[in-house]
Parts: sequence; C-alpha cells; structure tokens
Amino acid sequence: MSEYIATIGLEVHCELKTETKLFCSCRNVFGAAPNTNTCPVCAGHPGVLPVINRKAVEYTVRAGCAIGCEISRFSKWDRKNYFYPDLPKAWQTSQYDLPLCIGGSVTFDVNGEEKTVRLNRIHLEEDAGKLVHSGNCTTVDYNRCGVPLMECVTEPDMHSADEAVAFLEELASIFRYSGVSDCRMQEGSIRADVNLSLSRPGEPLGTRTETKNLNSFRSVRRAIEAEIKRQTEVLESGGKVVQETRHFDDNTGTGYGMRSKEDAQDYRYFPEPDLMPVVLSDADIERIKADLPELKRARRKRYVSELGLSDYDASQLTSEPEIADLFDGAVKAGANAKKAANYVMSEIMRKGKTAGEDGIAIGVTSVQLAELLSLVDKGEINLVSSRDVLDKMWLNPNESAAKAVDELGLRQNNDAGEIEKLVREIIAANPGPANDFRNGNEKVLSFFVGQLMKATKGKTNPKIAGELIRRLLSE
Ligand code: ADP
Ligand code: MG
Ligand code: ZN
Repeated sequence: MSEYIATIGLEVHCELKTETKLFCSCRNVFGAAPNTNTCPVCAGHPGVLPVINRKAVEYTVRAGCAIGCEISRFSKWDRKNYFYPDLPKAWQTSQYDLPLCIGGSVTFDVNGEEKTVRLNRIHLEEDAGKLVHSGNCTTVDYNRCGVPLMECVTEPDMHSADEAVAFLEELASIFRYSGVSDCRMQEGSIRADVNLSLSRPGEPLGTRTETKNLNSFRSVRRAIEAEIKRQTEVLESGGKVVQETRHFDDNTGTGYGMRSKEDAQDYRYFPEPDLMPVVLSDADIERIKADLPELKRARRKRYVSELGLSDYDASQLTSEPEIADLFDGAVKAGANAKKAANYVMSEIMRKGKTAGEDGIAIGVTSVQLAELLSLVDKGEINLVSSRDVLDKMWLNPNESAAKAVDELGLRQNNDAGEIEKLVREIIAANPGPANDFRNGNEKVLSFFVGQLMKATKGKTNPKIAGELIRRLLSE
C-alpha cells in the first residue's frame, strides 16, 4: 500500500439543452448531418456579431442556484485565444475573471457515507466543433460550434475514483432535474477533465496533472486509477511528477502526456469587445430560484420519511426526473404510494427503457397511471391485463384507462354467480383432478384456477376465483 493520498479536482463541461446556440440562432441538436447547423456567426466568419442567448444565461444561473452558488450580479465575456481546427474563430468566447456563478457545493453518498464537494465556479462558454478521424483523413463538423457549454470547476476535494464518479453522477442528476442539460455521456453532452496529484498526509498538495476530455464515467474511473498508479511509481522511484496535460486512451487503458500545462497567459485572455456584460437583478435571480423543482436528494429523503418507502425504492424512483415526476403526480392524483412505487419500478421502468440509450422515455401521464392503479385496486382489471391497458395508453395522453379497459374488453368478471356456474362446469369436466383435490392434493387448485382464467380470457378476479373453486371442490 502506498502512503500517498490522491487529491482530485474536476472541470466538468456540460452542454445546455437550449433550442438554439449561444451566439446565433442555429439549432442546438445532436446527431444532425455534418455542417448543416451552422451560419457565418458560429462558423467564425470575419466581421460577424454575436448575440447572446438569454436562455443559456438563465439555465446557467438555474444550475448555479441548484447547487447553492452565489450568482453574480455582473459578469462578462472574455476571449480565450488558441488555434485548433475545431475552433474557426481561433478564440473561444468564455468567461475569465467574472463568471456567472461562484462557490456552491454538491452533497452525495459514496460507499455509504455522506460527502460534500465544494465548487469553485460555473461559467458559460461556447463549445468547439468536432474533428472526425477516419483512416488518414480528418474532417471537421462545425455543428457543435457555439453550443452553450457550462464549465463547472470543483475545489480539489475528492480523493478517489469512487468519490469522483459519485460526484459526477450527482452533478449530472442535479442538472437533469433542473432541466438545464440531458448530461448524456454517449452524446458527449457531459465531459470531464481530471486534475490529480499525490501527497503525503499532512504535507502540501503535490504537483498535478490534468487528463482532458473524458467522456464517460467509466473512463473517468479508469483514468484516475491509472494516473494514481503512474504518479505513485514516479514518486517511489525517486522522480518528480511533471505538471502537464495528459490524454487517456480508452482502448489501451493508459494515459500519456500531450503537452506541458498551458497557463492562463498562454491564452492571452481579454474582454470580448462584441458583447455587453451580463447584468442580473435580485428579482431575476429570485424568479429563477423560485422555478427550481425539488431535486433528487430531497425527493429521495421525502419518499422515505413521508411516503414510507424503502431507501432502495426511493433511490430507484428518483434515478431519473421523468420517473420521479410520474410517481409524484400519480400519488398526488390519489394513488397509494407503495402500490404506485411497485408498479412504476416493475412495469413502467421496464417499458420506458430504450435499448442501449441513456435515460428513459415515459409514455403515460401521472393521471393515466393513477386511474389505471385505481382500476386494479377496485378489482376491475387484474395486474396481467393492466399491461395491455398500459400499452394502449402509451404515447396517447388522451386515452383514459377506463376507456382503454372497455375497448380492450378487459373488464374483470366479478359476478360471483356467473363465475360459480363456470366453475361447476369445469369441475364436472375434470372429475380426475377434482378427486385428487378431495384426497388432499392442494396443488390441483392452481390447475382449476388456470382453467377458469382460460375460460374467461384472464378476466376473472383471481382472489374470488381461488376461494370459490376451493369451496365448490369441497362440497
Ligand atoms: P487552471 O486554471 O490552471 O486549470 P485551477 O486553479 O483553476 O487551474 O484548477 C483547476 C482544477 O485543478 C480545479 O478543479 C482544482 O480543484 C484542481 N487542482 C488545483 N490544484 C490541485 C492539486 N494540487 N491537485 C489536484 N487538483 C488540483
Ligand atoms: Mg483548467
Ligand atoms: Zn450559427
């Protein structure tokens, strides 16, 4: 075991889900054909003028409010100058000394313990384009140029890959709940740079390296583990860690140095002359704050303390804001919390998962769900046929559960007289199994229940059916 403590600070980049880009009216969408969402502004033609997207500022402030940042009443834009083919202007419009949000913190659980990581700042900047490498040729797609990007910088408060990944998951959930970003790793809408150093307990922090642009939680974990191992080996063999920018290769699982770390002065930051500073009033900030929904952690705690759910169920139900909203709405519409929880976790979450994609797509409203659960509760349909009702309502917010039940002819037969007649017929037709039951073989009961379900196409209330069959067999 090494005697070193790892210290980690993250810089997290998160694309905002605004309709349009940060400084022009090009659409902000993922997956369009290359270079179809561009214009002279985001493609960096000379002489054009940027116009700020208010929504992007508002989303960044909302994110800041969600993690308790202090929101700047006055912030400004700066040019960060560097040359790279994915940056046609040769500067990135960003925020240097006066960012929109300062401070704040994120609290989360890691390995059963509560942990808080402080944030240093959140600023707003534009994303760059994307280089696409194939064989000997590299092409560039400018669709991502000018997409609004929040950069969240943490204090060096983490000490392991577990802590860093748990922090990122919590941060992503806060942004998803706040509605400012989808934080989809596979679409690159959340990416992280890992700053990492080693030191001995009680000594000042060591020299750090920065591993850039990790685009999955898994590669963040692997990059941290590999870098801790590498720095430990350097130090133990008597060497010194060099401050540098590194790249992590996901295929080989190893990192390598790219360049010595650049300083702020290398970028020759200067105030952006084409944009006015952002001035926010107390009223603006209060309005944005008032609009924030209840976040994941608070909901999870409320589900346990107020609704009596287990911590496991509460964490499942809050894994995505869409699920939590559906569940909350159904309970507000009168559904029993435990029954709604079970139904959402079994039926809805299974149905809403799209193969191979992040997130979940919910096709029913909370009112539809509450109505469906109440029909099950009243014994008008059983759980099995509720799935057909769910299918019929899915993606059709105007379909009521009761109407779907009738259209599908699924209303359960609760008429004891009619069921009794059927059961008598089934018993008469199966004298062998009936005798077995009378001779003490309880197992044949389920055979009769099955026969009855078949005869009524699953529309019999199973509880009534079981009791009745037992009584009639014992006559
Ligand atoms: P820069 O502007 O050069 O990127 P910052 O001071 O803004 O540097 O820090 C960037 C990130 O590096 C922050 O997340 C910070 O927490 C982290 N960091 C700073 N010093 C260390 C260190 N010694 N070890 C690990 N992380 C560090
Ligand atoms: Mg940095
Ligand atoms: Zn544009």
